[in-house]
Amino acid sequence: MSHQIGVSNTEASNADSCELAWGFGFHPDMNFQLRDMGEARVRGIIGHEALEIFYKSLQQGESYDVSKANALAHIQQLRVKELLAGEFADLKRITILNYLYDILKLYFETNRSDVENWEILEVEGFHAQEQTGEVDFYLPSRLDLVVYHKRGPFAGETSPVDHKFTYDFWNEWKLKLNAQFPLYILALRATRYAGKPEPVVRRVIVNQFRTRKLKDPQVEDLLKRDVQAYESDFIESVFANHMKKAVRLAYLKRLPWDEAVTEMKASLGSMNCQYCDFKELCLATFEGRDPKNAIDAMYKRNEYGYPPLEEIRRERG
Ligand code: SF4
Repeated sequence: MSHQIGVSNTEASNADSCELAWGFGFHPDMNFQLRDMGEARVRGIIGHEALEIFYKSLQQGESYDVSKANALAHIQQLRVKELLAGEFADLKRITILNYLYDILKLYFETNRSDVENWEILEVEGFHAQEQTGEVDFYLPSRLDLVVYHKRGPFAGETSPVDHKFTYDFWNEWKLKLNAQFPLYILALRATRYAGKPEPVVRRVIVNQFRTRKLKDPQVEDLLKRDVQAYESDFIESVFANHMKKAVRLAYLKRLPWDEAVTEMKASLGSMNCQYCDFKELCLATFEGRDPKNAIDAMYKRNEYGYPPLEEIRRERG
């Protein structure tokens, strides 16, 4: 059997929108992303970096205030760097950094009691779920945060915590009919933590940071934390659904690009096209042109890929 490759939930939902766009973004011979990331992506990346610093500081035994200061210092350093660029400063980036500084400060002030209830088990941990049977791929997940509930209503449980920067808060159905979170729960159920019993994982904690500009907002207009439970039957069905999609994507990933692209279905003319990051590559492909010029001008390789399972096993020793 050839080496096992990862097929994530993000990939599967990208391929649901357009298989060709998935190919540009996730096929091993392509793996492209736009050089100029949009504002939402920049905000999400820097926001997650600051939260990672905060929770890693707490995990390493720093006090709440020191952890908070470390996270905010990261944003502040980026802000100073931008301001020092003078007339070349990127004003959109400064606006994003100002937003992040303010909303994270508010988040830290609002959620101080977390440390009473939570033990931090993992921050930005990578999980690779190997599959049994004939398939030759694994399910990768990267979890923002994993906590053990020391006390409170979910005492004794372990939960993934996911941070979302979102224009508006997610509604009930977006939380219920979700594929990402049940797969996170499944990943954690297969994980063992030193000194802890087999984890009991039933729910995901969704930390929402609202990005919409509001006049005189209250805390509850900007921050929301949902605790969403999933039944085991639902989780299993979501996993089975992922597997159906992953079988095809793993097959396409193993083909060289020239062969894979002839098999991929493009959602040409769909709503997705106008927002697609790969419009230029798509046009070149359909016109039979060499996309090299478009690639050089607009794209770079995505470094956020998942390694073959054999490499993960080697790292684990
Ligand atoms: S432009 Fe449309 S058809 Fe082309 S890759 Fe993007 S979503 Fe798919």
